[in-house]
Amino acid sequence: MTIEVVGFGLAGACLAIQLTKLGAIVRVTDDGFLGSTAVAAGLVNPVTGKNFQPSWRLSDFWPEAQLFYQSLDESLYHPMPIFRRWMDDRDKFQKKYDTVAPWIAEVSEEGVTWKEGGWLETRRFLEVARAWLLEQGVSFEPGCSDSEVQVRCGGSAALRKREFAKIDHRCAKGEILTVTIPDWQEDYILTGGGWLIPIGNEKYRVGATYAWDGLDSGPTEEGREWVERILRNFTKRDYEICDHQAGVRPIIRKSQPVLHYEEELGWLFNGLGSKGVIYAPRVARQLAEHLLDGKAFDPDLRLSI
Ligand SMILES: Cc1cc2nc3c(=O)[nH]c(=O)nc-3n(C[C@H](O)[C@H](O)[C@H](O)COP(=O)(O)OP(=O)(O)OC[C@H]3O[C@@H](n4cnc5c(N)ncnc54)[C@H](O)[C@@H]3O)c2cc1C
Repeated sequence: MTIEVVGFGLAGACLAIQLTKLGAIVRVTDDGFLGSTAVAAGLVNPVTGKNFQPSWRLSDFWPEAQLFYQSLDESLYHPMPIFRRWMDDRDKFQKKYDTVAPWIAEVSEEGVTWKEGGWLETRRFLEVARAWLLEQGVSFEPGCSDSEVQVRCGGSAALRKREFAKIDHRCAKGEILTVTIPDWQEDYILTGGGWLIPIGNEKYRVGATYAWDGLDSGPTEEGREWVERILRNFTKRDYEICDHQAGVRPIIRKSQPVLHYEEELGWLFNGLGSKGVIYAPRVARQLAEHLLDGKAFDPDLRLSI
């Protein structure tokens, strides 16, 4: 039996790898449009947002994901402390203290530093994953075949096309800048009203906008200005913009991934939201085990529709 993986972003790549590791015959097809994995900042942030919210079931998903990326290529993931500056919200933090305590490295007058954060080179992950799969003999073919089992991992493009008509989405566009800031040696990820990630060679990724409209519009001037304002809140230094990208986050229910099956369409693996790096490897492993060995997967991944 050949299992066909349709869509080669984080979801499809992780699934193809997990299936191959378990001995399945896998065929991959992708339409060649760069999805959100190619744009993502790859940030892994244990505590996010205005309300100091721990990422959903982080300690269940992230340890396995980290090992998965490391086993593929040790240099893909960059552990890095995350500094979250106060934004008149230190009281809020104090109220959440016990909940977020496992991730606190340090608290200061300026903000809190989280441990266990970092970032994954998501675009390079796709290249490394593809090379690994090709080495294992997995075929990459244009167009879908009539494989007995298909898993659709089409990200936001597929959700917007409503491949699975019953599934509603809340996909959100995001714009990101890559900038050079000469002579700045920041070695923390900075967050609070946006984020800034040092990626080496005086380069930083900064983002991101979050919008539910104009999903097809690509990078915009308005988006660039928005992200530049975020950047100026982190540093007053001079900078030069080297790249400006836009992508669409595949959201079904915030950042909680979804596995779903329909007789005529097969399987769906989607809804990685803004945090696909944390969730994709373990969800993919569970789906692979389900398809090959009939093992039950985590009920939290099922969608009630
Ligand atoms: C601006 C921005 C910043 C982000 N930052 C982060 C971050 O810091 N950390 C994090 O964890 N996540 C982040 N994300 C989210 C992350 O990108 C997603 O969670 C994840 O990459 C989604 O992967 P995916 O495989 O589901 O979708 P995609 O990466 O979009 O891949 C889907 C692929 O399927 C293809 N496809 C679609 N339909 C078909 C079809 N019918 N046939 C063939 N191929 C098809 C598409 O062309 C695409 O290549 C960010 C996203 C954006 C937009």
